[in-house]
Amino acid sequence: SHADDIVYARSLIRTIQDYPRPGVAFRDITPLLADGRAMHATAQELLAQMPVSFDVVAGIEARGFIFAGAVAALAKTGMIPLRKAGKLPKPAYRLTYAKEYGEDQLEVSPDLKPGMRVLLIDDILATGGSLKAGADLVAAVGAEVTGIGVVLELQGLGGRSVMPQTRALFSM
Ligand code: AMP
Repeated sequence: SHADDIVYARSLIRTIQDYPRPGVAFRDITPLLADGRAMHATAQELLAQMPVSFDVVAGIEARGFIFAGAVAALAKTGMIPLRKAGKLPKPAYRLTYAKEYGEDQLEVSPDLKPGMRVLLIDDILATGGSLKAGADLVAAVGAEVTGIGVVLELQGLGGRSVMPQTRALFSM
């Protein structure tokens, strides 16, 4: 069943202790990506968790791209990559945001149009900084975030209070 497939998908998230730094439990989603049953169920469930209307799916670089593309294909919508600075040949908007160490920038191409309803997807909600930046960038364009989804929410890092509207399939 789909419920079994979702339990199975969760079981494929691999924890690597002390990566990339001592004390960090890195949640590695590559085993889930590599499995067809898990990947399909995860994309289906991300879509099912979004009882909202949307015109496009936006994904945050890099792992957000993977799930955003899969969800967009299922929903038969387009996909908009929200990219790290300097990767897009024709960025229409750039947003600078604060990170734990220093700042970072997200850019979007002119394909995201004012008024578009956007489903915003990333792999993991940790501090919420990336999804906040993504949502702010969409808003700066004059488009509207109607739903936010992640595969996994990490507890105790504050992301839930930064982005309370986020739907998460799994929580650890
Ligand atoms: P944040 O902006 O803090 O919510 O997290 C941004 C991104 O960092 C997430 O979408 C993940 O791709 C990655 N990330 C943060 N913490 C972890 C972790 N413990 N394991 C794997 N990826 C992580």
